[in-house]
Amino acid sequence: MKLILLGPPGGGKGTQAKRILTKLRIPQISTGDLLRAEAASGSALGKKLKEYMDMGKLGPDDLIIQIIKNRISEPDCAKGYIFDGFPRTMPQALALDTITKVDVALNIMVPDSEIIGRLTTRRTCKDCGAIYNLKSIPPKVAGKCDKCGAHLFQRDDDNEKTVMNRLKIYHEQTAPLIEFYRKKGILVEADCSGTLEQNSALVDKALEKWLK
Ligand code: AMP
Repeated sequence: MKLILLGPPGGGKGTQAKRILTKLRIPQISTGDLLRAEAASGSALGKKLKEYMDMGKLGPDDLIIQIIKNRISEPDCAKGYIFDGFPRTMPQALALDTITKVDVALNIMVPDSEIIGRLTTRRTCKDCGAIYNLKSIPPKVAGKCDKCGAHLFQRDDDNEKTVMNRLKIYHEQTAPLIEFYRKKGILVEADCSGTLEQNSALVDKALEKWLK
């Protein structure tokens, strides 16, 4: 099962990917997480990537495609995977077509008006990557992950200025992929503007055929 999660930054792709992967028993491949890991390594490439991320810009397509090729050739990807944050441009989608056949693309729909509030209150666990929201999904103990107790941090790119840029780029470069996958006949959609429970129920409904 190969699944693409489409949708705006802060729409809940990561949260839904983490929930679905336990049902499908396939890994989540988050290009954002892979790029942040490279940035944290302090390598020259990582420093360059951090500059793109901090400006809310997308990394270079060639590099992203190479990272994806390497990642999906690892043994845990043999039965499929959930792409979270890839593809994000038309060249990436066209390159993916030459690499593998995807079963379904889920469009997670959230209006822009929701996004800024959600991203500026998002917190992430530094160890296990669990995602919280200070308003809608707060941790039980402030600043600590419910699952592993590690420290929660705010991503450098989750500030209002960068978020506005990420949204602009999403509409210009990523949103056209919705029609691309609709035309291929593999698009399903879920309105994720509600509570986590409501959104999760709608995602499960959209993916009903695959989650059985
Ligand atoms: P995310 O964690 O998915 O919100 O991604 C964080 C940042 O990583 C984005 O704002 C981009 O700078 C970069 N990034 C993640 N995925 C991609 C991608 N598929 N193509 C280009 N840049 C990406």
